Amino acid sequence: MARYHQSVCRLCRREGEKLFLKGDRCFKEKCALEKRNVPPGQHGKRRGRVIGYGAQLREKQKVKRIYGILERQFRNYFKKASLKKGITGEILLTLLERRLDNVVYRLGFATSRPQARQLVSHGSVLVNGRKVDVPNYQVKPADEITVTPKAAKNPFVEQAIGSAKGRGVPEWLELDSESFKGRVLREPKRSDILYPINEQLIVELYSK
Ligand code: SF4
Repeated sequence: MARYHQSVCRLCRREGEKLFLKGDRCFKEKCALEKRNVPPGQHGKRRGRVIGYGAQLREKQKVKRIYGILERQFRNYFKKASLKKGITGEILLTLLERRLDNVVYRLGFATSRPQARQLVSHGSVLVNGRKVDVPNYQVKPADEITVTPKAAKNPFVEQAIGSAKGRGVPEWLELDSESFKGRVLREPKRSDILYPINEQLIVELYSK
């Protein structure tokens, strides 16, 4: 699958917001957005007011980038959300939040979603005791998420758990950091997702 290979900090600068793609660095002064909050490129200094279609497009790009997924996959999430009963935008965000790579990040087994995705695709994550190497696997209530004993000894995972303690675990998840064990207590709600996202703009974009 095609992936983005340039500096991910450019993506934050493009959106003008922290997307937390680089782990611990995002919480430090070294964050590129704190040092230089202008869009990337030759004409970067011109950040005009974005309205209408432009605003809808930027919101969609922002969410795609936060969760690290590509256009076709994102559109499939939207289709799935629009077929369910309820508020499409909120369902879309909760589907994204239930991705296994996101849950691994939220539990603190990785410092960023890209690192969590790598952990999952390398087969280092177990769901209910069975290896699941699909980052878009949708977790459900009562699922138990752990890392393999080998991964638990990985200094990156140990460091991630340490730095995640300050970040905290969302209310819909539970973590036993001593035994590297996480549990899904319930499905996530919109109020559990604290990013400044206007999902209605994405619904408007795809409803044209
Ligand atoms: Fe974005 Fe993190 Fe880079 Fe800051 S350090 S610009 S939050 S990816």
